[in-house]
Amino acid sequence: MAIPDRISILADVAEIVSRSHDLQETLANVTELVARRLEADVCSVYLTDTDLSHLTLRATKGLDPEAVGQVRLALGEGLVGLVAEKGEPIAMEHASEDPHYRYFPQTGEERYESLLAVPLTMQGSTIAIGVLVTQTETPRQFHADDIDLLQTCAQLIAPVVVNAQLLSLMSRSDETRSEVVARITDGQRAPRAESNVELRGIPTSRGVAIGPVYRVESPVDVDHVEYTPDESPAQEAVDLETALEATRREIEEARENVGERFGPEFAAVFHTHLQILEDKGFVQNLEQAVAVEANALKALRSVLDAYRETFERIEDPYFRERGADIQDVGQRVIEQLLGVRDHHEPMQPGSVLVVDVVLAGLFSKIEMENVAAIVSEHGGSTSHGAIFARTLEIPAVTGVIGIADEAREGETCIVDGSTGAVYLSPDEGLQTYYQNAQHQYEVAVEHLDALRERPAETRDGHVVKLSANVGLLADLRLVGQHGAEGIGLFRTELLALAHRGFPSQEEQEQLYSRVVDQMGDAAVTIRTLDLGGDKGIPNIGLEFEENPQLGCRSIRLALDNERAFKAQLRAILRASAEGRVRLLLPMISNVEELREAKAHLEEARQQLDDRGLAYDPHMPVGIMIEVPSAAILAPALAAECDFFSIGTNDLTQYTLAVDRGNERVAHLFDPLHPAVLRLIDASVHAAQSAGIPISVCGEMASNPLAVPILVGLGIGELSGVPAAVPLVKEIVRALDSLDVADDARQALQASSPADVHAIAARRLQKSGLLSHPDVGAWLEQTVETVLAGA
Ligand code: PEP
Ligand code: MG
Repeated sequence: MAIPDRISILADVAEIVSRSHDLQETLANVTELVARRLEADVCSVYLTDTDLSHLTLRATKGLDPEAVGQVRLALGEGLVGLVAEKGEPIAMEHASEDPHYRYFPQTGEERYESLLAVPLTMQGSTIAIGVLVTQTETPRQFHADDIDLLQTCAQLIAPVVVNAQLLSLMSRSDETRSEVVARITDGQRAPRAESNVELRGIPTSRGVAIGPVYRVESPVDVDHVEYTPDESPAQEAVDLETALEATRREIEEARENVGERFGPEFAAVFHTHLQILEDKGFVQNLEQAVAVEANALKALRSVLDAYRETFERIEDPYFRERGADIQDVGQRVIEQLLGVRDHHEPMQPGSVLVVDVVLAGLFSKIEMENVAAIVSEHGGSTSHGAIFARTLEIPAVTGVIGIADEAREGETCIVDGSTGAVYLSPDEGLQTYYQNAQHQYEVAVEHLDALRERPAETRDGHVVKLSANVGLLADLRLVGQHGAEGIGLFRTELLALAHRGFPSQEEQEQLYSRVVDQMGDAAVTIRTLDLGGDKGIPNIGLEFEENPQLGCRSIRLALDNERAFKAQLRAILRASAEGRVRLLLPMISNVEELREAKAHLEEARQQLDDRGLAYDPHMPVGIMIEVPSAAILAPALAAECDFFSIGTNDLTQYTLAVDRGNERVAHLFDPLHPAVLRLIDASVHAAQSAGIPISVCGEMASNPLAVPILVGLGIGELSGVPAAVPLVKEIVRALDSLDVADDARQALQASSPADVHAIAARRLQKSGLLSHPDVGAWLEQTVETVLAGA
């Protein structure tokens, strides 16, 4: 089947699913559409019963409609039962000749010769919840593409089925109701009397912004709020209904918003949430509970508690985690009921977002185009959320202790992302000062951008490749604008974060091919999913971990979720057919992991070969060096991969035992620590001996002080946030390769990070950069501060 056709079929199925309010209607529409578009005489859906050992025909286009709800078969019975039992597709040109074939007279299916059946399964779960079947009268040979297409349709339908089944199961549950009496205590804050309140934090993303505060509150802790119900029980019922309605509107808005900004596939989670809200069982449970309790909050709490307990008893991790969606919706309804969401007003353009901690997920929830700066109470500068802020060029200061107590909604705030200063209610003088600084910064960036064609080479002609780290399609324009030569790191997590689960191959394929297409001849390094750690999301089978950064994150999680990993590998391979793609494996800590990942890649290639789909057979496969063991064993790893990319954020975290997201130890987080440098040096030697390229893609690559040292250590490529490329280029152009090699040697022998800072600062000073018309002012302060302490 031709690709455009395939995409339009999937878009149509996705559309039906997105409008789904009723399972039966959705299944009827899907079977009708699939039969028509795949030119099949029959399309049917069988769903597993609650006993999990039988399947019942639930919808059909083509078989006798009377058979719906009547035909029931055991798991393993007939071809359909076999598909459900094995969880694998079956395609047969002459189905009746197969010994497993079983014919159900009620359906009138005797005249159908060929059969293609695929399991309905959810990403991350091994249990089939049903089977999607097509049948044709005339014999048909099915190709790998047909199977793949039907499987993707099944993946789109599966969430609707799961939700409907879980909700109906819930509505039958009869749990005890727990009691909560609550009242909102957190009233309006008094207006501020004083001006120029200064707070300090960790400078996280460069740039200056002035704008009104927009607070994003942490979820309300429903166990610790007070609530006095209305005297009239009827009023409580009305309030609950109003809260449900307001939540529905809120979710619909979020769906539209996210869909518009990131594409419809990103909005999938909101369909699920709407489906829960509109579920008859859920609503009825609430109505009954409010009638009994005469208290809307108590009713909500008791229903949510019952759902939570039921979900906690489910063994399959995928299904268990679906409970999170119900709690998520419940939390929204409670917040509406309590009126604690005071952000119904859309955010004003140019707002300063004040949050507890900058989580990566924030970027898929908030209208980032209206955010001028971010300030967080907690967190450090290399957390993933902080990295997204830098990538999007949003000035940010993290770890600003006290901001949550101090900042009033709407008051003016100045954020200086270069120094870490934050001012609340600044007076006119301070505002003017910062407006000027902001202007100067913008002019300097413009000047440097205008010079983007200049080569990145040292004074003596040593070339250093400068590329960009990117995570969103929207970032791509910044790559060219700031003169980066390609993408040194494409973080693929955002799709999963927005999606709240592993994205499908289809979605990834579309995203990667758009990236590759927009980058033309330039190299695009796509990193496989690096989830877990501080990027935990629901639906990926994560268990509670005491130390998530040392737990099942990144490549470990990928290898544990073979199906999702292979889907991603296939998507990356497919994109490699269209441009210069390199595949990057994160957090490799031993040779076995690399071999296992490569074995999966080989299988993914084979699957594409079987379907006759193109890919680049020479696509380079590299690994990130971000765990000390990988740096120490770099020679062994270099022998089995095509390139190294050093992730200094994690390498520093793991070498120095400093949580990259913890503001209390942020002062100890230093990639210029000699211990980290020695591991970088060992990796460079291993790469050079093996003849493979080596780059640095951690935040260190954009740190002005680190540039001379990294170039001196022999790093051939620096990949950082796009906006930092012009500054890094100016530094590279002012250096001499012999001088920096000498600096690097000294740095490796240094005993403390401060000594390394001093070596680098002196180099920047000697290079004449401090009198540079554009970057001089930026560097001066850094250099002066370092040398003053040396
Ligand atoms: C790193 O660890 O340096 C890196 C680039 O990966 P991430 O920041 O996404 O963990
Ligand atoms: Mg990392």
